[in-house]
Amino acid sequence: MKLVVQVRLLPTPEQAAALEATLRAVNDAATWVAALAHHRRVFRNYDLRKHAYRQIKDNYGLAAQAAQHVIKKVTDAYATLHANLRNGNVGRPGSARRERALATPIVFRPGAAQPFDDRCLSWRMDARTVSIWTTRGRMKSVAFTASADQLTTLAAYRKGESDLVYRDGRWFLIATCDIPDRPVAAPDGFLGVDLGIANLATTSGGVRHSGKGLNAVRHRHRELRRRLQAKQTTSAKRLLKKRRRKEARFAANINHTIAKRIVTEATRTGQGVALEDLQGIRDRVRLRKPQRVTLHSWSFHQLGRFIAYKAARAGVAVVYVDPAYTSRGCSACGHVDKKNRPDRETFLCTSCGFAEHADVNAARNIAARGVTSWAASHAA
Ligand SMILES: [Zn+2]
Repeated sequence: MKLVVQVRLLPTPEQAAALEATLRAVNDAATWVAALAHHRRVFRNYDLRKHAYRQIKDNYGLAAQAAQHVIKKVTDAYATLHANLRNGNVGRPGSARRERALATPIVFRPGAAQPFDDRCLSWRMDARTVSIWTTRGRMKSVAFTASADQLTTLAAYRKGESDLVYRDGRWFLIATCDIPDRPVAAPDGFLGVDLGIANLATTSGGVRHSGKGLNAVRHRHRELRRRLQAKQTTSAKRLLKKRRRKEARFAANINHTIAKRIVTEATRTGQGVALEDLQGIRDRVRLRKPQRVTLHSWSFHQLGRFIAYKAARAGVAVVYVDPAYTSRGCSACGHVDKKNRPDRETFLCTSCGFAEHADVNAARNIAARGVTSWAASHAA
């Protein structure tokens, strides 16, 4: 399983200046190579290297590895663009957007991500520093922050290149870790997880992870967004972007915490985890109008992803189940009725009288489907 670990760098002012000069140089070089590729219609790595390698080394002060990464970055970007053009993601043939994409070379922002391989970047986990190639020479002992968990993962499983990124005034290294899957233990039942808005996640064990904090932040940001959007100035747009990222970071932190707690609960009880299959979530939530704006369906998908990979790391079984009627069906007798839900929070079965928090009842239905689905796929 591939896992991305992002750590924040804490460079000294001198180191930061060197990183900034480096990122600017590689991205200026990439923009130059992209223009060359565009005008000569040369998009293959091998061919482009013949045309550009020496020039970018000499003109932008790049080391051999950096020059190669720049060329690869450009060919990758064009490969993506061409695939998008082919698949019709850049507008219909003849549309202004598509014509513009065809007519203009790709441009790289000065802070765009740049890959560094092990020859250009080495990690010292014990000291929490990296040594990194820059256009101003090798910068040693650039400090970074990472959690204990991240450090262990990096030390054991980091593989290949890491991306250097400058974002919102901060420096990051994004490392890829290749984690071997633990053998999955045969589960003793399933922990069902119901995803929602008031409660971001509720387990069949009765644990509710409230969305209060996240929803409050989202609400605040929405108000601010409305005001900023009306302004239309460059600085307003920049601030808007920053806000959006901040909100995404906040949501990701919460999702990480919830995922961790859920997997811990499953590990402790020897259960597998049953998740809703989220394919249809967009259609489903469209029905709940007042809450619609609060929802970011990507956040559900992210939480689902976090749970799945933390479970895989812990050797916990994961199954995906059809979420249809999990909120209306009685987890005690199976009776399905809209009237079983007198209000958002309450489940009260009109047939057998079973009462439970609505989200817990839904989670119990998901858990039961998890058991069935596991049995079906492991019958042999
Ligand atoms: Zn019932």
